[in-house]
Amino acid sequence: MTSQRTRERLIQRLKDQGISSQRVLDVMRVTPRHLFLDEALSHRAYEDTALPIGYGQTLSQPYVVALMTEILLSQGPRKKVLEIGSGSGYQSAILAQLVGQVYSVERIKPLIDKSRERLRLLGLRNVRFSHSDGGFGLPDSAPYDGILSAAAPNEVPEELLHQLAPDGILVIPVGPGDVQELRVITRQGDSYNFEEHVAEQVRFVPLLSGVSR
Ligand code: SAH
Repeated sequence: MTSQRTRERLIQRLKDQGISSQRVLDVMRVTPRHLFLDEALSHRAYEDTALPIGYGQTLSQPYVVALMTEILLSQGPRKKVLEIGSGSGYQSAILAQLVGQVYSVERIKPLIDKSRERLRLLGLRNVRFSHSDGGFGLPDSAPYDGILSAAAPNEVPEELLHQLAPDGILVIPVGPGDVQELRVITRQGDSYNFEEHVAEQVRFVPLLSGVSR
């Protein structure tokens, strides 16, 4: 079930759904998604669905990971990227292979420990995980050329806009319901003007406040 053929089928499905960045497709082809799941679920790793990772959280659907990554890179290469909601660490592993340095924040401590271990096993050393509330971004390492959120706030947190570098891009699901708008917000040069549009409708877990042990 984790064979090369099964993985190739997933990549074909991503292409059929409109993912066109060859770099993103190549990285998704070689990243073993089954290592980010408990063994009991690993046979489903190359299905295009979100899957549970415990603590009421999910590993994002591959299509959504590909889409957000493609959008993040759509306006040129990114050196420093902040990810909010590391979850399993799968999206972090994809980003690590496409940008210079990833900072990833997660509010559930055991998930961070697992993600660290998985990325270490894969030899990906350019991700720094922090146990903190990503609703405030990660001011200590700001500014970021890109910010990607895997958890949905009701409104875009102002802090995230303030932590964007010139021409930085923020990709974030926004809205209170089960289905949210995937918003793409780009800082215009070094001004404090932002261009904003909705890419599509998506389903994410809510951005919760505070941290949990
Ligand atoms: N991209 C992840 C998806 C994780 S689901 C993956 O591929 O596995 C979203 C994650 O956001 C959850 O793990 C949840 O705990 C986390 N989260 C929710 N609110 C948060 C907050 N305020 N700060 C940091 N992480 C948060």
